Amino acid sequence: MKILVCVKRVVDYNVKIRVKADGSGVDLANVKMSMNPFDEIAVEEAIRLKEKGGVSEIVVASIGPAQAQETIRTALAMGADRGILVKAEGRVEPLAVAKILKQLVETEAPDLVILGKQAIDDDSNQTGQMLAALLGWAQGTFASKLELGDGQALVTREVDGGLQTLNLKLPAIVTTDLRLNEPRYASLPNIMKAKKKPLDEKAVEDFGVDVTPRLEVLTTSEPAKRQAGVIVGSVDELIGKLKNEAGLL
Ligand code: AMP
Repeated sequence: MKILVCVKRVVDYNVKIRVKADGSGVDLANVKMSMNPFDEIAVEEAIRLKEKGGVSEIVVASIGPAQAQETIRTALAMGADRGILVKAEGRVEPLAVAKILKQLVETEAPDLVILGKQAIDDDSNQTGQMLAALLGWAQGTFASKLELGDGQALVTREVDGGLQTLNLKLPAIVTTDLRLNEPRYASLPNIMKAKKKPLDEKAVEDFGVDVTPRLEVLTTSEPAKRQAGVIVGSVDELIGKLKNEAGLL
């Protein structure tokens, strides 16, 4: 059994985002970049499945700039076996990513593809679903539990008002939600070992996919600044303010 995990290089979730002065986007100069947090969960899940037995190889794929190599190396240091970087500059939208991943799936022939439920930079939540549609495969999105059986995967999904369990016929697509697992940290020896693991580089041009963005970003703006709070002296004063100033009562 082979698992393909998709990882995207995004702005680190701890970074305080700065919007460019001309509003054309987010300032990425000298900003710390990391693996998309949901993709760390995807890598962790694949490793846990391999540790349980029955998984022979974990391949990690990323579409992005040369620096996305580091993102793949992080996954290799966590425990994945091999990486594929499809080099592409600039913004590659989910449909183009899904079309490239489809070709990788066709050559790699994994039994399971695990992606994050969304990338925290574009918040699209589209790639996994589009890949499943392009391949005509079953999909289990927003997974909070994943169990592999004979030719099938049991996926528990977080849906409005509860949990839903799906039985997917393999090969299938799974996207991860936050509660699926807590990703491990890579140990120093494993970081060293990961440097020697195979990482194949390909050019986006070789896939014949038009990666020109279909969406134009018109403007990007910071959220409105929150006003400072006030400390009220009594409950009566609070009720007065809620009635007369906030208009809530
Ligand atoms: P999105 O649809 O952009 O919110 O991304 C959902 C998931 O698709 C991410 O968590 C990744 O697992 C995968 N993904 C999106 N973009 C890329 C990319 N450029 N390279 C590899 N995987 C990606």
